[in-house]
Amino acid sequence: MKAAVLHGPRAFRVEQRSVPEAGPGEVLVRVRAAGICGTDYRIWTGDRPVQYPLVPGHEFIGDVAAVGRGVTRVAVGDRVAVEPNWGCGRCDLCRAGSGNLCLARTAVGIDRAGGFAELAVLPEQACWSAPAGVPDERLLFTEPLAVVLRAVGRAAPQAGESAAVLGAGTLGLLALQLLRRAGCRVLVIGRTARRLELARALGADVVVATEGAAGADPVAAARGLSGRDGVDLVIEAAGTAAAVELALGRVGLVRPGGRVVLTGLPHTPVSVEFFWLVRREIDVRGSMIYQQEFGEAVELLAQGAVEVGPLLTHRFTLDAIEAALQAHQDPASIKVAVFPGPAGP
Ligand SMILES: [Zn+2]
Ligand SMILES: [Zn+2]
Repeated sequence: MKAAVLHGPRAFRVEQRSVPEAGPGEVLVRVRAAGICGTDYRIWTGDRPVQYPLVPGHEFIGDVAAVGRGVTRVAVGDRVAVEPNWGCGRCDLCRAGSGNLCLARTAVGIDRAGGFAELAVLPEQACWSAPAGVPDERLLFTEPLAVVLRAVGRAAPQAGESAAVLGAGTLGLLALQLLRRAGCRVLVIGRTARRLELARALGADVVVATEGAAGADPVAAARGLSGRDGVDLVIEAAGTAAAVELALGRVGLVRPGGRVVLTGLPHTPVSVEFFWLVRREIDVRGSMIYQQEFGEAVELLAQGAVEVGPLLTHRFTLDAIEAALQAHQDPASIKVAVFPGPAGP
Protein backbone atom coordinates (compact mmCIF):
# COMPACT_ATOMS: atom_id res chain seq x y z
CA MET A 1 0.00 0.00 0.00
CA LYS A 2 1.02 3.57 -0.57
CA ALA A 3 1.81 5.79 2.41
CA ALA A 4 3.16 9.32 2.85
CA VAL A 5 6.02 8.74 5.26
CA LEU A 6 7.66 11.67 7.03
CA HIS A 7 11.38 11.00 7.55
CA GLY A 8 12.28 14.37 9.06
CA PRO A 9 11.22 18.01 8.93
CA ARG A 10 9.72 18.76 5.48
CA ALA A 11 10.87 15.34 4.25
CA PHE A 12 7.90 13.32 3.05
CA ARG A 13 8.39 10.30 0.82
CA VAL A 14 5.42 8.56 -0.71
CA GLU A 15 6.41 4.90 -0.38
CA GLN A 16 5.09 1.41 -0.82
CA ARG A 17 4.63 -0.33 2.52
CA SER A 18 3.35 -3.78 3.33
CA VAL A 19 -0.36 -3.96 4.07
CA PRO A 20 -0.82 -3.63 7.84
CA GLU A 21 -2.68 -6.42 9.56
CA ALA A 22 -5.68 -5.97 11.83
CA GLY A 23 -4.85 -7.80 15.06
CA PRO A 24 -7.42 -8.86 17.65
CA GLY A 25 -9.80 -5.98 18.34
CA GLU A 26 -8.40 -3.97 15.45
CA VAL A 27 -9.82 -2.71 12.18
CA LEU A 28 -8.11 -2.13 8.84
CA VAL A 29 -9.50 1.03 7.26
CA ARG A 30 -9.10 1.92 3.58
CA VAL A 31 -8.70 5.69 3.77
CA ARG A 32 -11.02 7.71 1.53
CA ALA A 33 -10.10 11.21 2.68
CA ALA A 34 -7.82 12.80 5.27
CA GLY A 35 -8.05 16.44 6.34
CA ILE A 36 -5.06 18.61 7.19
CA CYS A 37 -4.93 20.95 10.16
CA GLY A 38 -2.39 23.14 11.92
CA THR A 39 -1.07 20.17 13.91
CA ASP A 40 -0.21 18.30 10.71
CA TYR A 41 1.49 21.41 9.39
CA ARG A 42 3.61 21.73 12.55
CA ILE A 43 4.51 18.04 12.36
CA TRP A 44 5.59 18.51 8.76
CA THR A 45 7.79 21.53 9.50
CA GLY A 46 9.30 19.88 12.58
CA ASP A 47 7.87 22.44 15.03
CA ARG A 48 5.96 19.57 16.60
CA PRO A 49 8.50 16.89 17.52
CA VAL A 50 7.61 13.32 16.53
CA GLN A 51 9.51 10.08 16.11
CA TYR A 52 10.50 9.45 12.51
CA PRO A 53 9.54 7.78 10.32
CA LEU A 54 5.88 8.65 10.81
CA VAL A 55 2.73 8.45 8.70
CA PRO A 56 0.83 11.54 9.96
CA GLY A 57 -2.86 12.31 9.45
CA HIS A 58 -5.51 12.24 12.16
CA GLU A 59 -8.65 13.66 10.53
CA PHE A 60 -9.73 10.81 8.31
CA ILE A 61 -12.54 8.63 7.12
CA GLY A 62 -12.65 5.42 5.15
CA ASP A 63 -14.14 1.99 4.59
CA VAL A 64 -13.59 -1.01 6.81
CA ALA A 65 -11.44 -3.36 4.69
CA ALA A 66 -10.87 -6.08 7.30
CA VAL A 67 -11.53 -6.73 10.97
CA GLY A 68 -9.42 -8.63 13.49
CA ARG A 69 -10.61 -11.30 15.87
CA GLY A 70 -13.34 -10.24 18.30
CA VAL A 71 -14.37 -7.02 16.53
CA THR A 72 -18.10 -6.36 16.87
CA ARG A 73 -18.41 -2.58 16.60
CA VAL A 74 -17.98 -2.37 12.82
CA ALA A 75 -18.13 -4.75 9.87
CA VAL A 76 -16.29 -5.01 6.57
CA GLY A 77 -17.71 -2.47 4.14
CA ASP A 78 -18.82 0.04 6.79
CA ARG A 79 -18.03 3.68 6.09
CA VAL A 80 -16.30 5.01 9.22
CA ALA A 81 -15.04 8.24 10.72
CA VAL A 82 -11.92 7.72 12.82
CA GLU A 83 -11.67 9.12 16.35
CA PRO A 84 -7.92 9.62 16.46
CA ASN A 85 -7.30 10.14 20.19
CA TRP A 86 -7.86 7.84 23.13
CA GLY A 87 -6.71 7.71 26.73
CA CYS A 88 -4.89 4.85 28.44
CA GLY A 89 -8.17 3.72 30.01
CA ARG A 90 -6.49 3.00 33.36
CA CYS A 91 -5.51 6.32 34.99
CA ASP A 92 -7.75 8.37 37.28
CA LEU A 93 -8.59 10.81 34.47
CA CYS A 94 -9.61 8.07 32.06
CA ARG A 95 -11.66 6.28 34.70
CA ALA A 96 -13.47 9.56 35.39
CA GLY A 97 -14.31 9.89 31.69
CA SER A 98 -11.64 12.49 30.88
CA GLY A 99 -9.60 10.48 28.40
CA ASN A 100 -8.94 13.70 26.48
CA LEU A 101 -6.79 14.84 29.41
CA CYS A 102 -4.95 11.53 29.87
CA LEU A 103 -1.20 12.04 30.08
CA ALA A 104 -0.64 8.74 28.29
CA ARG A 105 -3.07 9.56 25.50
CA THR A 106 -2.50 7.94 22.10
CA ALA A 107 -2.86 10.24 19.11
CA VAL A 108 -3.16 8.66 15.68
CA GLY A 109 -0.86 10.30 13.15
CA ILE A 110 1.46 11.42 15.97
CA ASP A 111 2.11 8.42 18.20
CA ARG A 112 1.19 5.81 15.59
CA ALA A 113 0.61 5.62 11.85
CA GLY A 114 -2.26 7.77 10.63
CA GLY A 115 -4.37 8.53 7.61
CA PHE A 116 -1.95 9.91 5.02
CA ALA A 117 -1.91 6.41 3.53
CA GLU A 118 -4.12 4.05 1.59
CA LEU A 119 -4.69 1.89 4.68
CA ALA A 120 -4.54 2.37 8.44
CA VAL A 121 -5.04 0.03 11.39
CA LEU A 122 -7.01 1.22 14.40
CA PRO A 123 -8.59 -0.21 17.52
CA GLU A 124 -12.28 -0.83 16.92
CA GLN A 125 -13.28 1.80 19.52
CA ALA A 126 -11.77 4.45 17.25
CA CYS A 127 -14.14 3.61 14.40
CA TRP A 128 -17.54 5.29 14.16
CA SER A 129 -19.86 3.89 11.51
CA ALA A 130 -21.67 6.52 9.51
CA PRO A 131 -25.17 6.09 8.11
CA ALA A 132 -25.18 5.10 4.44
CA GLY A 133 -25.21 7.96 2.00
CA VAL A 134 -23.30 10.58 4.00
CA PRO A 135 -20.92 12.09 1.43
CA ASP A 136 -17.20 11.74 2.17
CA GLU A 137 -16.76 15.48 2.00
CA ARG A 138 -19.23 15.89 4.88
CA LEU A 139 -18.02 13.01 7.02
CA LEU A 140 -14.48 14.36 6.71
CA PHE A 141 -15.44 17.13 9.15
CA THR A 142 -16.29 14.76 12.00
CA GLU A 143 -13.05 15.32 13.90
CA PRO A 144 -13.02 19.14 13.80
CA LEU A 145 -16.76 19.20 14.53
CA ALA A 146 -16.20 17.04 17.62
CA VAL A 147 -13.59 19.57 18.80
CA VAL A 148 -16.06 22.39 18.33
CA LEU A 149 -18.98 20.53 19.92
CA ARG A 150 -16.92 20.23 23.07
CA ALA A 151 -15.74 23.84 23.00
CA VAL A 152 -19.22 25.24 22.48
CA GLY A 153 -20.62 22.83 25.06
CA ARG A 154 -18.05 24.11 27.57
CA ALA A 155 -19.46 27.62 27.01
CA ALA A 156 -23.02 26.44 27.80
CA PRO A 157 -24.70 28.87 25.37
CA GLN A 158 -28.29 29.88 26.07
CA ALA A 159 -30.85 31.04 23.52
CA GLY A 160 -30.80 34.82 23.23
CA GLU A 161 -27.22 35.22 24.37
CA SER A 162 -24.56 37.04 22.40
CA ALA A 163 -21.35 35.28 21.43
CA ALA A 164 -18.08 36.05 19.73
CA VAL A 165 -16.00 33.54 17.78
CA LEU A 166 -12.32 34.30 17.31
CA GLY A 167 -11.01 32.75 14.13
CA ALA A 168 -12.82 32.17 10.85
CA GLY A 169 -11.13 28.91 9.88
CA THR A 170 -12.70 25.46 10.03
CA LEU A 171 -13.17 25.50 13.81
CA GLY A 172 -14.49 29.06 13.96
CA LEU A 173 -16.96 28.57 11.11
CA LEU A 174 -18.27 25.37 12.75
CA ALA A 175 -18.49 27.07 16.16
CA LEU A 176 -20.51 29.87 14.57
CA GLN A 177 -23.04 27.36 13.29
CA LEU A 178 -23.38 25.52 16.60
CA LEU A 179 -23.89 28.82 18.41
CA ARG A 180 -26.57 29.82 15.92
CA ARG A 181 -28.27 26.47 16.48
CA ALA A 182 -28.20 27.23 20.21
CA GLY A 183 -30.05 30.49 19.53
CA CYS A 184 -27.15 32.91 20.04
CA ARG A 185 -26.39 36.06 18.11
CA VAL A 186 -22.84 35.70 16.84
CA LEU A 187 -19.95 38.01 16.05
CA VAL A 188 -17.15 36.38 14.05
CA ILE A 189 -13.70 37.95 14.18
CA GLY A 190 -11.12 37.04 11.58
CA ARG A 191 -7.77 38.48 10.66
CA THR A 192 -8.68 39.28 7.09
CA ALA A 193 -11.97 39.91 5.35
CA ARG A 194 -11.46 36.90 3.10
CA ARG A 195 -13.43 34.30 5.07
CA LEU A 196 -15.84 36.69 6.72
CA GLU A 197 -18.18 36.76 3.77
CA LEU A 198 -18.56 33.04 4.26
CA ALA A 199 -19.12 33.59 7.99
CA ARG A 200 -21.98 35.92 7.08
CA ALA A 201 -23.44 33.37 4.69
CA LEU A 202 -23.27 30.78 7.48
CA GLY A 203 -25.27 32.97 9.83
CA ALA A 204 -22.95 35.44 11.54
CA ASP A 205 -24.83 38.55 12.68
CA VAL A 206 -21.70 40.70 12.63
CA VAL A 207 -18.22 40.12 11.23
CA VAL A 208 -15.03 42.04 11.91
CA ALA A 209 -11.59 41.84 10.30
CA THR A 210 -8.79 42.90 12.62
CA GLU A 211 -6.25 43.47 9.84
CA GLY A 212 -6.32 45.36 6.59
CA ALA A 213 -7.63 48.72 5.55
CA ALA A 214 -11.15 48.00 6.75
CA GLY A 215 -9.89 46.87 10.17
CA ALA A 216 -12.72 47.60 12.56
CA ASP A 217 -12.70 47.49 16.35
CA PRO A 218 -13.80 44.03 17.55
CA VAL A 219 -14.51 45.26 21.07
CA ALA A 220 -16.85 47.93 19.74
CA ALA A 221 -18.54 45.27 17.61
CA ALA A 222 -18.96 43.00 20.67
CA ARG A 223 -20.54 45.86 22.58
CA GLY A 224 -22.75 46.77 19.66
CA LEU A 225 -24.00 43.20 19.25
CA SER A 226 -24.64 42.61 22.95
CA GLY A 227 -25.91 46.07 23.82
CA ARG A 228 -23.78 45.84 26.96
CA ASP A 229 -20.18 45.73 28.11
CA GLY A 230 -19.18 42.80 25.90
CA VAL A 231 -20.69 39.52 24.74
CA ASP A 232 -21.90 36.77 27.07
CA LEU A 233 -19.42 34.22 25.78
CA VAL A 234 -16.37 33.93 23.58
CA ILE A 235 -15.03 30.90 21.73
CA GLU A 236 -11.35 31.28 20.90
CA ALA A 237 -10.65 29.10 17.87
CA ALA A 238 -7.72 30.88 16.25
CA GLY A 239 -4.94 29.51 18.40
CA THR A 240 -2.84 32.66 18.32
CA ALA A 241 -1.56 34.72 21.21
CA ALA A 242 -3.22 37.79 19.69
CA ALA A 243 -6.62 36.08 19.69
CA VAL A 244 -6.29 34.97 23.31
CA GLU A 245 -5.23 38.49 24.28
CA LEU A 246 -8.23 39.90 22.47
CA ALA A 247 -10.51 37.48 24.31
CA LEU A 248 -9.03 38.14 27.75
CA GLY A 249 -7.52 41.59 27.44
CA ARG A 250 -8.13 44.55 29.69
CA VAL A 251 -10.67 45.93 27.28
CA GLY A 252 -11.90 42.55 26.18
CA LEU A 253 -14.70 41.10 24.12
CA VAL A 254 -16.49 39.46 27.02
CA ARG A 255 -18.77 41.20 29.49
CA PRO A 256 -18.12 41.10 33.22
CA GLY A 257 -19.36 37.72 34.45
CA GLY A 258 -19.05 36.19 30.96
CA ARG A 259 -17.38 32.97 29.79
CA VAL A 260 -14.38 32.47 27.55
CA VAL A 261 -13.59 29.04 26.13
CA LEU A 262 -10.13 28.54 24.68
CA THR A 263 -9.79 25.72 22.19
CA GLY A 264 -7.14 26.97 19.76
CA LEU A 265 -3.69 25.94 20.97
CA PRO A 266 -1.46 29.01 21.08
CA HIS A 267 2.17 27.91 20.88
CA THR A 268 3.66 31.19 22.02
CA PRO A 269 3.38 32.92 25.41
CA VAL A 270 0.30 35.08 25.93
CA SER A 271 0.21 38.29 27.90
CA VAL A 272 -2.92 38.67 30.03
CA GLU A 273 -3.52 41.02 32.95
CA PHE A 274 -5.13 38.73 35.47
CA PHE A 275 -6.32 41.69 37.50
CA TRP A 276 -9.07 42.20 34.94
CA LEU A 277 -10.09 38.56 34.87
CA VAL A 278 -10.60 38.68 38.63
CA ARG A 279 -12.13 42.14 38.70
CA ARG A 280 -14.66 41.08 36.06
CA GLU A 281 -15.11 37.51 37.24
CA ILE A 282 -14.41 36.15 33.81
CA ASP A 283 -14.90 32.40 33.64
CA VAL A 284 -12.05 31.02 31.51
CA ARG A 285 -12.24 27.41 30.38
CA GLY A 286 -9.89 25.32 28.30
CA SER A 287 -11.38 22.81 25.91
CA MET A 288 -9.15 19.96 24.80
CA ILE A 289 -10.24 17.99 21.74
CA TYR A 290 -13.28 15.87 22.67
CA GLN A 291 -14.56 13.50 25.32
CA GLN A 292 -17.94 12.08 24.33
CA GLU A 293 -18.67 14.27 21.31
CA PHE A 294 -17.60 12.07 18.40
CA GLY A 295 -20.86 10.20 17.93
CA GLU A 296 -22.84 13.43 18.04
CA ALA A 297 -20.54 14.92 15.40
CA VAL A 298 -21.22 12.00 13.05
CA GLU A 299 -24.95 12.40 13.66
CA LEU A 300 -25.03 16.15 13.02
CA LEU A 301 -23.13 15.71 9.76
CA ALA A 302 -25.39 12.85 8.68
CA GLN A 303 -28.45 15.03 9.37
CA GLY A 304 -26.97 17.92 7.42
CA ALA A 305 -27.36 20.05 10.54
CA VAL A 306 -24.17 21.96 9.83
CA GLU A 307 -22.95 23.29 6.50
CA VAL A 308 -19.47 22.09 5.58
CA GLY A 309 -19.47 22.19 1.77
CA PRO A 310 -17.85 25.62 1.44
CA LEU A 311 -15.22 24.77 4.07
CA LEU A 312 -13.43 22.16 1.95
CA THR A 313 -11.44 24.37 -0.38
CA HIS A 314 -8.51 22.24 -1.59
CA ARG A 315 -8.25 18.58 -2.63
CA PHE A 316 -5.06 16.65 -3.40
CA THR A 317 -3.89 13.13 -4.18
CA LEU A 318 -1.66 11.40 -1.65
CA ASP A 319 1.32 11.88 -3.98
CA ALA A 320 0.85 15.64 -3.68
CA ILE A 321 1.04 15.59 0.13
CA GLU A 322 3.63 18.38 0.34
CA ALA A 323 1.60 20.62 -1.96
CA ALA A 324 -1.38 19.90 0.27
CA LEU A 325 0.53 20.99 3.37
CA GLN A 326 1.65 24.14 1.59
CA ALA A 327 -1.95 24.83 0.62
CA HIS A 328 -2.88 24.68 4.30
CA GLN A 329 -0.86 27.88 4.77
CA ASP A 330 -2.48 29.57 1.79
CA PRO A 331 -4.74 32.34 3.13
CA ALA A 332 -7.33 31.31 0.52
CA SER A 333 -7.65 27.81 1.99
CA ILE A 334 -9.93 26.71 4.79
CA LYS A 335 -9.85 22.91 4.91
CA VAL A 336 -7.38 21.05 2.74
CA ALA A 337 -7.72 17.29 2.29
CA VAL A 338 -5.91 14.44 0.59
CA PHE A 339 -7.80 11.60 -1.06
CA PRO A 340 -5.61 8.47 -1.06
CA GLY A 341 -8.13 6.22 -2.81
CA PRO A 342 -7.79 5.18 -6.45
CA ALA A 343 -10.51 7.65 -7.45
CA GLY A 344 -8.41 10.52 -6.05
CA PRO A 345 -9.90 13.89 -5.18
ZN1 LIG B 1 -6.48 18.33 13.60
ZN1 LIG C 1 -5.44 7.63 31.05
